[in-house]
Amino acid sequence: MITSRGLKVRFTCLRCGRCCSSGPNVSLTVHDVCRIASYLGVSWRELVGKYIYAMIADYVPVVVIRGINSKCVFLKYVNNTPTCTIYPARPMRCRLYPFLPIAPGETSRLEISSKCPGVGRGEYEDPPWSDLEAYLGEVKDHYRKLYDLIFTRNLEPVKALERALDEACFEKQVTKLS
Ligand code: SF4
Ligand code: SF4
Repeated sequence: MITSRGLKVRFTCLRCGRCCSSGPNVSLTVHDVCRIASYLGVSWRELVGKYIYAMIADYVPVVVIRGINSKCVFLKYVNNTPTCTIYPARPMRCRLYPFLPIAPGETSRLEISSKCPGVGRGEYEDPPWSDLEAYLGEVKDHYRKLYDLIFTRNLEPVKALERALDEACFEKQVTKLS
């Protein structure tokens, strides 16, 4: 189902954990990675392997959260309730769910996942348009950084990803301090 600006949608999260337990694993921008690292108080390098990994597709690295038995590595059960252990720093795609971006420049329409049982419940509310705009801005910056490093400055994909992460996490630190 697709929704557009001006339309309200009924959605209440039932905390069923389905969206964190069904794969495929969540893809991350460098900005998501830096927020998670900062929230956990570690450098982005300490997330690699244990929490995140990268695949290379047509020279471009794609970073994803690790899954264990199809469940997100950050999902834990607290008092039998599925709980995101990095909730304040959860990736933008998780923040948007059950709303799904349609295309890179599309800021007026969102797809609504048919897999979320919370859709159609609760009060009618505006979809998260400002989160969508923030996410698309971060995606654009993520690919601008990577494409520049790979295709203009001729870095290998993994080296380019490392450099992009260093730059993005440094920028976030500077922003936090200023
Ligand atoms: S699938 Fe929907 S209702 Fe269940 S936890 Fe995710 S967002 Fe909430
Ligand atoms: S990061 Fe948190 S919200 Fe996102 S899939 Fe993992 S447990 Fe769920």
